[in-house]
Amino acid sequence: MKGFKEKKVLGRKCQSCGTVYVPGPTYCRKCQKEIDTIVEVKDTGTLGTFTVNLADIRGNPLDKPNIVAYAKMDGSDTWLMSRLEGWSVGRLCTQVCV
Ligand SMILES: [Zn+2]
Repeated sequence: MKGFKEKKVLGRKCQSCGTVYVPGPTYCRKCQKEIDTIVEVKDTGTLGTFTVNLADIRGNPLDKPNIVAYAKMDGSDTWLMSRLEGWSVGRLCTQVCV
């Protein structure tokens, strides 16, 4: 939570294999060793894919579409799935769908 308050993207780095996870688990999935090193990664990254939700889980139309993206932050070795807040479909397509 500290990172969110400071508007930083934080992950955990395994000291055994060097893998940087965002979000950071407490154990390395490769080494099965405890990870206690917090690292900051960039707030930029690579967008792998995204989807635009037009309805909720029951099929009811949403007031406005929301976007869920799968991305890897620069400085991280793992992918994360997150809802994009403050992004419209038009902005996403203008900047990504080229
Ligand atoms: Zn490891």
